[in-house]
Parts: sequence; structure tokens; C-alpha cells
Amino acid sequence: MNTPILSIKNAVKRYGTVNALDGVNLDVAEGEFLTLLGPSGSGKTTLLSAIAGFIGLDEGTLALRSNDITGKPPEHRDFGMVFQGYALFPTMTVRENVGFPLKIRKRPAAEIKKRVDEALEMVQMGAFADRMPSQLSGGQQQRIALARAMSFDPQILLLDEPLSALDKKLRADLQWELKDLHQKLGVTFIYVTHDQDEALSMSDRIIILKDGAIQQEGGPNTLYDRPRNRFVADFLGKSNFIEATVTGGSGPTFHCESQGTPFDLITDEPCEQGQAISLALRPERLRLGLPGAELVPATVKQVSYLGERCQVLVVREGGEEFLVSRPTWKTDITPTPGLQVSIGWDADAPVVLAPS
Ligand code: ADP
Ligand code: MG
Repeated sequence: MNTPILSIKNAVKRYGTVNALDGVNLDVAEGEFLTLLGPSGSGKTTLLSAIAGFIGLDEGTLALRSNDITGKPPEHRDFGMVFQGYALFPTMTVRENVGFPLKIRKRPAAEIKKRVDEALEMVQMGAFADRMPSQLSGGQQQRIALARAMSFDPQILLLDEPLSALDKKLRADLQWELKDLHQKLGVTFIYVTHDQDEALSMSDRIIILKDGAIQQEGGPNTLYDRPRNRFVADFLGKSNFIEATVTGGSGPTFHCESQGTPFDLITDEPCEQGQAISLALRPERLRLGLPGAELVPATVKQVSYLGERCQVLVVREGGEEFLVSRPTWKTDITPTPGLQVSIGWDADAPVVLAPS
């Protein structure tokens, strides 16, 4: 990474006995779309608020292009912000709302008008300049909140679950629009969400947080294909987990055994004979076959139809459940509860997990 636009070193924030941030180190690259992803209470808002300057850190430092800003008040950080619930000023028109950050920066009226027009154009809301927020739909209000956050050309745009109050269809539309805006503006986005799909579809890079600590960071496909531990594998997408023992072989191909079933595993992780390993296996990497066609005999327990895919829950002898995701165009077998089947996977499909 070239000089990061923002560098966070050992950020710690405690609330009583809760470590809301537990030693976060993070460099943000100029122009990237970075997403903070984690369950409720994992410290996403705390981290974003610390970046914005709304809360102070107990330990650690923040630097903007190598200049320390740890003690700087929010109004001098010049970051654009869109928070949950799009709090527009209800007594101001759309134009006044979007111009507000420029007004408090004492910009000349002509410049304010020009920038407000540009910002409204950017979010396709030019025709709504004279309306009051109450005369707008939720999605429109959120667009205005975005325009307001961008009107003064911020160095970084901070967004805390900006779409979470919107319905699914609108959220999907605005996800495309936000990505588009990010590309057009080239501004650094730091985006908070607890929605895995949203994180996967929008981000250049995702930071996964749990209990105020980074679990893993990387591009969407790296995180999805190579989750480091069980938490990440479970939180980002769905996963099956297999406890196995290494019975032989040498890298990259090992022989393993799980509940009496031998199978081969191809992995770059170092494994030793006799070692117990935990594996994650994505549902779409599992194959469903007729009895005997695949490795492990199983019985279909539940089928859930999702349009382009269907999810099949199967149980192997001994009670262990596996989720199989298969395209609905596959008609070689029609899974129904009670059907005897078998499941299998390619040797390179399971991912070896680090202990959580
Ligand atoms: P997230 O945004 O990921 O849901 P938060 O950053 O809001 O999580 O919270 C992280 C943890 O810090 C949670 O356990 C939360 O209860 C706690 N916390 C956050 N803000 C405060 C506060 N002002 N006072 C006490 N505890 C807080
Ligand atoms: Mg939050």
C-alpha cells in the first residue's frame, strides 16, 4: 500500500469492562471502498465514531496522511458522514440541508449554490431541491443525506449502516448507486454494515470485526474462499464444518478421516499425521448424488427453494447435518425429505481453519 490515507494504530476503547475496541490496527488506502463488517456489538460504530472524532480513544493513534489527528475535534477532520436513520434537519429544505456543511464552513453563497446543485445532480435529486425532508421517501432522504455528506468534497466518507432502514429492493438499487458514486468520485469510503451480502457486493476490502478485534481482512473473494477461522466462515456466507484427523500424506495432498469416512484433502496449510483439524466446506461445494455415487451416505431432511438455487439439508448416519446448495436447473435427482442420497466434495473444497 502507498501512504495510507488513514492509519489506525492499536485503537482501544473501553466501556466499563467491555472492550468496544480491543487493539485495532488498520491502514486505509486512498480511494478504496473499505467495509467494516461484524455482528451487532462488534465495535463497528465505535471504530467509525473514533475515526470521525466523536469519541476519544483510551489508547492508540489515528493519522491522516501521516499527520496525527488523534486529538483533533470532528469539525477539523473534514470527513463526510452518513449515519443510520438519515437524520436530515426537518425544518430545512433539501437545498438548505445539503448546503449546511458549506454554510458552517462559511463558503460564499454562489459557491454553495453551485456545489449543492452538483451534489443533488450526483444523487439524481436535482428536481427535489425545494422540498422539505418530510415530503421525501426513505430512499430519497438517504440520497439527500449522501449529497449533504459529499457537498464539501470530504477526504473520506464515513457511512454507518446507511441503507439498513430501507426495504430490500431499494437497498439493492442504492447499493449499485453507491458503488457507482464511489467510482465516479474516487473518494475513500469507510462503510459499516452487518449485512454480509452488502459487504461482499460493494467492497474492495472487508474488515471482519468481533468483540472489538479484527478477525480477518481481505478482498471479498479471499474472505469467502479462504476464511481463517470458524467465526469468519460462519459469519460470511454459510458453511459446513467437519472435524477430521490427518492420517497420512504430505502436502499439498493429505489423507484424512472423519467419522470413519476416509477422504483426501488438498491444502497449502501444513498438516501433520495424527493432527486433528477443523474444516469449513461451503454448501455449493458439496455434491448431491444417488446412494453410492458419492462418498458419504445421507438422508434428505429439508429442502428450501430459493429460485435460482435450492438448499438441501441432509443428515448422515450419526446425526451430523450438512447443507448442500445446488442450482435448481439440476434435475438428476429431485431432493425431497426422506430421500436416500450421498454427498461428496472435491479434495480442494474444504478450507483448514485456525482455532478460534
Ligand atoms: P456495533 O456498531 O458493531 O453494533 P458498537 O460499536 O455500537 O457495536 O458497540 C460495541 C460495544 O461497545 C457493545 O458491546 C456496546 O454495548 C458497547 N458500547 C458502545 N457504545 C457504548 C456506550 N456509549 N456506553 C457503553 N457501552 C457502549
Ligand atoms: Mg453500529
